[in-house]
Amino acid sequence: MSFIPEDKVSDILNTADIVDIVSEAVLLKKAGKNHIGLCPFHSEKTPSFTVSPDKQMFYCFGCGAGGNVFSFLMKHEGVTFPEAARILARRYGIDIPTNTMSAAQKKKITERERILSVNRLAMAYFQDTLDRAASGQRGRDYFKKRGIANEIVKSFKLGVVPGGWDNLFNYLSKKGVPHHLAEKSGLVVDNQRGGFYDRFRDRVIFPIFDTGSQVIGFGGRVLDATLPKYLNSPETPVYNKSRSLYGLNLAKQKCREAGSAFIVEGYMDLLSLWQHGIKNVVATLGTALSSGHVRILKGYAPKVMLVYDSDEAGLRAARRSIEVFDEGYVDARILVLPSGHDPDSYLLEFGSEAFLHLAKGALGAIDFLIESSLKEHGLSIEGKVRVISDMQVHLAAINDNVARSLYIKSLAEKIGVDDTAILDKVREAVADNHVRKSRKGSMPAVSAGEDHHPERGLTKTVETRFGKIERQIIAMMLQFPKMLPNVMENNLLDFFADDDLRFIGRLIIDHQTPPLRSVSDLVSKVDNPEMAKLIASLAIGDDVWGYDGCLNLIDQFMARNRVNENTLLQKIKAAEANNDHGLVVQLLKEKQLQVQKKINKKIESVGGESL
Ligand SMILES: [Zn+2]
Repeated sequence: MSFIPEDKVSDILNTADIVDIVSEAVLLKKAGKNHIGLCPFHSEKTPSFTVSPDKQMFYCFGCGAGGNVFSFLMKHEGVTFPEAARILARRYGIDIPTNTMSAAQKKKITERERILSVNRLAMAYFQDTLDRAASGQRGRDYFKKRGIANEIVKSFKLGVVPGGWDNLFNYLSKKGVPHHLAEKSGLVVDNQRGGFYDRFRDRVIFPIFDTGSQVIGFGGRVLDATLPKYLNSPETPVYNKSRSLYGLNLAKQKCREAGSAFIVEGYMDLLSLWQHGIKNVVATLGTALSSGHVRILKGYAPKVMLVYDSDEAGLRAARRSIEVFDEGYVDARILVLPSGHDPDSYLLEFGSEAFLHLAKGALGAIDFLIESSLKEHGLSIEGKVRVISDMQVHLAAINDNVARSLYIKSLAEKIGVDDTAILDKVREAVADNHVRKSRKGSMPAVSAGEDHHPERGLTKTVETRFGKIERQIIAMMLQFPKMLPNVMENNLLDFFADDDLRFIGRLIIDHQTPPLRSVSDLVSKVDNPEMAKLIASLAIGDDVWGYDGCLNLIDQFMARNRVNENTLLQKIKAAEANNDHGLVVQLLKEKQLQVQKKINKKIESVGGESL
């Protein structure tokens, strides 16, 4: 991280607000002095993801992810520290000079930015062609025929590329874009004969943006009968399909306001909804909805409505979505349009009010599957048996016990069967699931002999007990810095058994900056994300610190430390009495190590070199 100048890092930390940045991606609710939400890094149903505006830190009590605003961006966007710094700098108008970087460093961080700038060039070319070029006439005709208003063409920065193999390639070359970079952006393809050709030819172009409205990729739709009808950019260092949702950059505010999002399958469906005033809508990009998508979406809307134009597509999605949504905990409903309609034709014929009315009656995934199965098999005895066997697996896949039993009840009522009969079937399927799961992930059995190792057992307990109190002391240092002088006076850190905790303690003492943003600053001093997590976990807590309690904690720690030392001495004595020479030698070595550690600490603390 060294090549972002330190003063710039602290400029960013002083200006950026972690609540703002996290809110872009996570729906946060105020809870006391913190904000909480559903963690974007693991699946959970009750929020354990905590953001502290005072400390400018986040921490998840569920998965242990944590850190400052840099750590959040790095983890959430999958970027390096310098990239995160640049994203924040750009956002807050802080200028970061590049001349202090080595060539290799420059290359690494700028690759992403260079691809983004190639994308911007290409987008301008596509837009310009649509706007005024003679060769853009087919594109203009297409959007006109589909009834897409000019204002929407502008908002979504739509474009067109004429037929021909190298229109864009030549344009980029003229603009000085190196060939290998153009290829990396996914816009041109190596023809294996020393040349390149355009990936997108004779298509209308839909630029794909990230939530920060940077253009990360493109989609293209044919203007004639060529296949494939739709073509997207390949994955690049800036474009990841399973994390990107088309239209989210423009829809995110609307999704928050509405508390829900429509998910459609393609660009044109999305534009149709938009055209009819329904703007809380996103589209998946030629991939099935992934749990990555759900995690992103749940930051904007607790409810989603999947829109399909056929029963089959709806069924497929409903089956898939039970798992995807159960994991991400979003209320998902399936809206299948009347047969023969896609969103565009439906809206044209019936208007947005009818569409929204239809959406209101849309069923949740399980109810949708039940209804579909009933429609298929009917209510004859045989039909009922089929319905139950259809639903057995899906009901078993629901993790929430309460939800599961409610669905069982509702199915039982619908088909007039006793719910215990269905419950039995579901139990069978659940047991089946468990057997499969435990076979897959079972751990090798531990032999009984290994467990009966009193020495090891004892040290382990002492260590963890120590670990706990050491954690408390570091938490106290972070949350109640008034105690720092006492910690230093008593040289508490010298007695720490846990190297990581001792390291953090020293860091705190070395950087006794004003307390407000200090914790977040501290995180920027460590390279290791594990260390950042540890600091976050200790800094964010509900502990209430009082002076007396702290003194008590320090006393306890010192007393335990003496006990530990004595325990070792006692063990040595006992081993000597038992004539267990092997053990004596081992314990003496341990003792020697302890002494050596202490000597080293003393030497370090007077500024000398350790032995
Ligand atoms: Zn988490």
